[in-house]
Amino acid sequence: MREALVCGAGGFIGSHLVKKLKKMDYWVRGVDLKRPEFSETEADEFIQLDLREQENCERAVLSRKSRPFDEVYQLAADMGGMGFIHSAECEIMRNSALINIHMVHSSAKAGVKRYFFSSSACVYRDMEADEPELSEEEAYPALPDNEYGWEKLYAERMAMAYARKYDIKVRLARFQNCYGPEGTWRGGREKAPAALCRKIAEAEDGREIEVWGDGKAMRAYTYIDDMVEGIYLLMHSDLENGVNIGRREYVSVDELVKTIACVAGKDIKIKHVKGPVGVQARNFTIDRISSIGWKSKYSLREGIGRTYPWVKSQVEKARKKN
Ligand code: NAD
Repeated sequence: MREALVCGAGGFIGSHLVKKLKKMDYWVRGVDLKRPEFSETEADEFIQLDLREQENCERAVLSRKSRPFDEVYQLAADMGGMGFIHSAECEIMRNSALINIHMVHSSAKAGVKRYFFSSSACVYRDMEADEPELSEEEAYPALPDNEYGWEKLYAERMAMAYARKYDIKVRLARFQNCYGPEGTWRGGREKAPAALCRKIAEAEDGREIEVWGDGKAMRAYTYIDDMVEGIYLLMHSDLENGVNIGRREYVSVDELVKTIACVAGKDIKIKHVKGPVGVQARNFTIDRISSIGWKSKYSLREGIGRTYPWVKSQVEKARKKN
């Protein structure tokens, strides 16, 4: 039986990845500061550990019978949407860097065979909406828009350095915005799709919601099941260096609002207000991940069709509590 460690297993993508690995018959250990918020973990073992501490990372990477894990998936990060990224620069730079430094070091030293790192499309520079696609190499010369992106680049480079020196295969995914049920939907760390689903679920038909920026920023959004499939395929491939994972369906923020309103069956008006937006556009190639058979199965409309009802149920639950 293959054994895997999922760091960040109490979070959004990590908890979905645990489910996927269980379906593939792995023995899974999940590690996180906290347990998953919205459903019980499916991991065989779940340990609450602070991965900023090296000794905790050393403990995490040794499986039952003190053997190093076959596969380590590193998704733990101090993380959030644009509001968080712009207000918590020091926490992101310190906490996520410490986790990544100690995790890759402990994994390589212990003899872990494969190591996955979750990087981000935030490593790329800002773009114009009609620019041609950027390839993975065009992350350099580097000019990420925020400190979150710089930390990811540093962590990528560190993982690659360990792969050169030790007998460990490193796989680096650069995720586009990912969304779906059981993602953070309130509290300041939520990302645009969840925040907008919440605002629309809270609004009455015909009312107005506030949207940060001018609504023109272009993004693509990847549904969680597609993302987890991409992680699994990439981990078991021969692709070295950064690999973009994301759906090629670019929409403006206003179009995202319209899609959610349509799924909700509400007429929603938009009021643009000042707020952190991030880059104006993103457009990157997915040729590398496509070359190993990855294909997005969920259009934005289909993904929102699965996500909005979940956010709405959370809003209703919270309302009943108050
Ligand atoms: P998330 O915040 O839901 O999950 C991250 C988890 O890491 C959380 O459960 C958190 O408690 C845990 N964590 C934080 N500090 C820790 C520590 N010191 N020790 C142990 N655990 C700690 O985020 P997510 O959306 O699931 O993202 C997972 C990974 O994917 C992150 O590396 C993130 O940067 C990356 N990513 C996500 C997106 C996205 O759209 N969700 C996009 C690009 C990259």
